[in-house]
Amino acid sequence: MRTFLITAIALYSLLITGCKEQTDQQAAATAVQSIFPKGDLGPAENFTGKAWNYGLVPADSTYTTLVGNVYFEPGARSNWHIHPAGQILIITDGVGYHQIEGQPRQTIRKGDVVKCPPNVKHWHGASPDTGLQQMYLLPNTEKGIVQWMEPVTDEVYNNQ
Ligand code: MN
Repeated sequence: MRTFLITAIALYSLLITGCKEQTDQQAAATAVQSIFPKGDLGPAENFTGKAWNYGLVPADSTYTTLVGNVYFEPGARSNWHIHPAGQILIITDGVGYHQIEGQPRQTIRKGDVVKCPPNVKHWHGASPDTGLQQMYLLPNTEKGIVQWMEPVTDEVYNNQ
């Protein structure tokens, strides 16, 4: 009986350890990798949740192109906005959404390249469970960079 109990406890311990390892692996699978430093927290008037911006190339008269990286924590997204000269996004990790007004919400993932034409109202951000790493490229900055609008409601964000 004693041997049986010890064996049972040993098997139970193995089972618990096995489950924990699996949980850790799942957590690692959804963890978002960063190439760049996290940067600065975006202002609450332009974002829902936490979005961190790190500048890579400042806009100047030679390149007239603004390049940077945003990390959206899970559930975080931009307000609706337009870019007077358009925007290109390069997704380097995670899962998120991009939506142009009047069009279906798109799911975006690592490796996706998303173009948003000039003066088109849109938003972008992370999925509820996984963050999003996006590089943004804003060309022709002499035409303007961004015009911020209203927050994205939970209904729009959740595609309801
Ligand atoms: Mn944008």
